[in-house]
Amino acid sequence: MADGTLRSGRALNAAGLIAAGRVREAESVARRYAVAVTPQIAKLIEPEAADDPVARQYLPDARELTRTPEERDDPIGDDAHSPLPGLVHRYPDRVLLMPTTACPVYCRFCFRRERVGHGATAMTAGEIDDALAYIADRPAIREAILTGGDPMILSPRRLGDILRRVAAIENVEVLRIHSRVPVADPGRIDGSTVAALRQRVPVYVAIHCNHPREIDREAARAFAALADAGVPLLAQTVLLKGVNDDADTLESLFRALVRHRVRPYYLHHPDLAPGTAHFRLSIEEGQALVRALRGRISGLCQPTYVIDIPGGHGKVPVGPSFRGENGALMGWQGSVHRGPAG
Ligand code: SF4
Repeated sequence: MADGTLRSGRALNAAGLIAAGRVREAESVARRYAVAVTPQIAKLIEPEAADDPVARQYLPDARELTRTPEERDDPIGDDAHSPLPGLVHRYPDRVLLMPTTACPVYCRFCFRRERVGHGATAMTAGEIDDALAYIADRPAIREAILTGGDPMILSPRRLGDILRRVAAIENVEVLRIHSRVPVADPGRIDGSTVAALRQRVPVYVAIHCNHPREIDREAARAFAALADAGVPLLAQTVLLKGVNDDADTLESLFRALVRHRVRPYYLHHPDLAPGTAHFRLSIEEGQALVRALRGRISGLCQPTYVIDIPGGHGKVPVGPSFRGENGALMGWQGSVHRGPAG
């Protein structure tokens, strides 16, 4: 846990991040959903700027206390696919492992906000043993994805121990870690962390990053430390109204990631997490943004735009399609052409 992490409305006010008039509102939100702003993120926030895209992701907002009828506690249906505590098995070839439900920061749009933060827990030794036995008993499982919570807030020794034990399972070919740490608390990415990622099988790190301003000098150093050690880096971005829902911002984010050797992987349509309606845009709006990016940035910079079907039915790409009527193909500038026959 980063020293100096701000966890209350009063602390945010004392740090100059919210006005005195917003403390009461922030405290009400913080009672419902955990608040954590690391010194790294606090430094990136421009308190005077209305609608600052970094602030919007991390500072509590009274709108979080309004829940719309379609929102769900478990928007992507983890529970329905969880045969054991801390393990989600949705697809035949891969599992999620959630060694901790704590994070360095608490994102205001988090799809697991009902389980991370307040009352955060770590898997017990027995639960980890059971999860590993479950994976070893199912040869179809080839990939284990450590998520949470944020696995990179575990000590390097503990993270390395879990990775080593999963990597030792014969059928596991690839490990992946989903983390906000390289952006939110980059000082944690040191030699011990990098050493913990050296395992019998490749360990991919998927960095959660939503705005180019999140990639400052410290984050860039953390990315470089991982890339220099040969760790394949991916990025996951959540498309968020008021944060990155314009083509210029997305272009600049994806270009910056690629410059720092991080391959944009998924652009997630926001999930139906409780109290997050103010972050959501329509799929049509998302498709229009992705279409606008097609001719502006190379394929290397283009993540797949996906949505998790509410209720746990998996993740699917949502376009946009470049096919018109009768098999026609649309160019990136909107021109229509005949596709190949057959
Ligand atoms: S780091 Fe990930 S799991 Fe944690 S609050 Fe942010 S989105 Fe949720």
